[in-house]
Amino acid sequence: MAGTTTALVIGGGIAGPVTALALHKAGITPTVFEAYDQAAVDAGAMLTVAPNGLAALGIVGLEEAVQAAGHPLHEMVMEKGSGKKLMSVPALPGLAPSCTILRSELLRVISEGAAKEDIDVQYGKRLVSVDEDATSVTATFSDGTSATGDILVGADGIHSAVRTLIDPAAPGPQYTGLMSFGFGDFAADGTLNDSKPGAIDAMHFAFGKKSFYGYWRQPDGTDAFFSNFPQERPMTLAEARAVPKEEWLAKLRASHVGDKPGERLFAAASPAKMLVAGPMERMPKVPHWYRGRMVLVGDSVHAPSSSSGQGASLAIESAIELAHCLRDVTDVTEAFAAYEKRRRRRVEEISAQAAKTNSGKTNGAAATFVFGLLMPILRRTILVPEKMFGPVHRFRIDWGEVVSAE
Ligand SMILES: Cc1cc2nc3c(=O)[nH]c(=O)nc-3n(C[C@H](O)[C@H](O)[C@H](O)COP(=O)(O)OP(=O)(O)OC[C@H]3O[C@@H](n4cnc5c(N)ncnc54)[C@H](O)[C@@H]3O)c2cc1C
Repeated sequence: MAGTTTALVIGGGIAGPVTALALHKAGITPTVFEAYDQAAVDAGAMLTVAPNGLAALGIVGLEEAVQAAGHPLHEMVMEKGSGKKLMSVPALPGLAPSCTILRSELLRVISEGAAKEDIDVQYGKRLVSVDEDATSVTATFSDGTSATGDILVGADGIHSAVRTLIDPAAPGPQYTGLMSFGFGDFAADGTLNDSKPGAIDAMHFAFGKKSFYGYWRQPDGTDAFFSNFPQERPMTLAEARAVPKEEWLAKLRASHVGDKPGERLFAAASPAKMLVAGPMERMPKVPHWYRGRMVLVGDSVHAPSSSSGQGASLAIESAIELAHCLRDVTDVTEAFAAYEKRRRRRVEEISAQAAKTNSGKTNGAAATFVFGLLMPILRRTILVPEKMFGPVHRFRIDWGEVVSAE
């Protein structure tokens, strides 16, 4: 196969436009195709871009713009439901703090970066099928149009269509047993009404008596909080949103009775300021990351569940690394293989760690009890911030390194 000059990037979320920017930097012309009509449709709530994700954004010149649009997070505090502090995790020495940012703001900054580089982003283009030949790949969209390029990148999220086109037997997302709900000054479309830059001194994560929850003070002085509510029966986002918010809120209030300050926060919460974020899902190991001229990036291939705090950061890293490999390795198959080799182990390790955290969250009181008993030992051994987060947060992609085929 010959070198890559054009790429069809399916998905205009986080991974898609970052892949496009990195491909552009690598001398490859990308076109992004997003299913929705506009970039910020139902854009989600707050997410975290960790130091490793920020550094990867720096490669495409967006680190500072993202930091300016978000809030530095100086400390994470782990607590018991009683409010007793278990451990504190400050930003690691020598690293910029993580950045908490509305997903809509992150999308805006990345989209503006893509526009500045004249990257073609087309909306209302839902991929439905693909045809490949020896030298190209053609994508067909639900509006009947099509586009042809040298390669096709599936940046189409956890419910990826490209993943199934690559491998019809590929696994789908796994439900973690937790439903997620956010509270804050949410607008009617579900976005949080706070894009004013400022610091978030501490984000608290608490193993409540029945449900895991988190809370923090926004820079504008309001409280924001969330709950990961254990529920055995899986539901789609649409099904969860069809349940009246009052009904969910009643369950959450009951589940946080006795938690400090959870009981107070959820008692005072109103349905108007509630976001039903839906089922928490993660991707199990995906056997085939690429086939022929198609390859996966971001949540389509390695969604680690939001417990990792790494979904967006890993998606950004993979987007950059894919372009890095395509820049240097002429043969498409060899470039995809080099990309998978550089990424698979890291993303699977982080995902496995998040799965352990999720099982602690679903086990509620029992997990808190065991965690509390083990705490003195854990604090001296694995719960050392540098050990827990160093390998994840200090990871860097060396864009100057020349990648060679395996
Ligand atoms: C609506 C939404 C809200 C979210 N909210 C949060 C949040 O509050 N907190 C958090 O931590 N993470 C959230 N996430 C997940 C987070 O954005 C991702 O984990 C991470 O950023 C990785 O991004 P990604 O680009 O791989 O996937 P995504 O961000 O999911 O982007 C995938 C994109 O592909 C598009 N797409 C899907 N199928 C097709 C198709 N067939 N053709 C064309 N385009 C297609 C989707 O519309 C979407 O824009 C949310 C994701 C979405 C889609």
